[in-house]
Amino acid sequence: MPSDQRQAPSRAGVERLAELIRESESTVALTGAGISEPSGIPDFRTPGEGLWEKVDPMSVATIDAFHGDTRRFWDFYRPRFQTLSGKRPNPAHEVLAALERRGLLDGVITQNIDRLHGKAGSERVIEVHGSIASASCTSCDARFQLGQVDSLFDDDGIATCTCCAGKVKPDVVLFGELLPQGAMAEAQELCAGAQLLLCVGSSLEVHPVAGLPELTLREGGRIAVVTKGSTPYDGEAAVRLDGDVVEELTAVLAALG
Ligand code: ZN
Repeated sequence: MPSDQRQAPSRAGVERLAELIRESESTVALTGAGISEPSGIPDFRTPGEGLWEKVDPMSVATIDAFHGDTRRFWDFYRPRFQTLSGKRPNPAHEVLAALERRGLLDGVITQNIDRLHGKAGSERVIEVHGSIASASCTSCDARFQLGQVDSLFDDDGIATCTCCAGKVKPDVVLFGELLPQGAMAEAQELCAGAQLLLCVGSSLEVHPVAGLPELTLREGGRIAVVTKGSTPYDGEAAVRLDGDVVEELTAVLAALG
């Protein structure tokens, strides 16, 4: 379907999801790149878009690339971080924050590094791929906030630690790195305890995050999937909405009254 032919939210699906949220005593959201696309942040897996257009992410966004050619890594990442830091949350992020404020959502687990859930007002956000909020020295573990990082670059274009002159790496999970254990453990616990896992804007294909809905299902919980395109969990989803995430979530919030 061409992207300009947006599908109107399915009324029955929206009503059903609102009902599931009302009934559930513990609802958790799991979000991916699709929730940030309406904020102007393209999914890097979409070919030919944005900053990834001319760069193969596997050649630059890996831990080996960081250590092997740190200058090239930062040449790519520095403008990307500056762009990301200026982005604003969209109504889909705001719906999740509103649900949490109303006591209808326990927290948000996100694969996104853009901090937009926090900016939208979500309180409990588990960033399983890290975030651009900070960067850390790979030698001495000194930590720098996003606003400080730009002052760390040396003449070679490499962010360098002010304590020990080690290489500073953004606190995002690169390809080839393990996910932060604490965040993953918290995400697993939330998903296992959830009566409803609301998956938004994620293709649910990237492991280990892709295994989280399985934990909910195994413990007898339900999953709802709100995303464009297919996911491996479509057959098991109690509700499957595949329209625009902003329109779908806005409709769900309205249906909750
Ligand atoms: Zn250091």
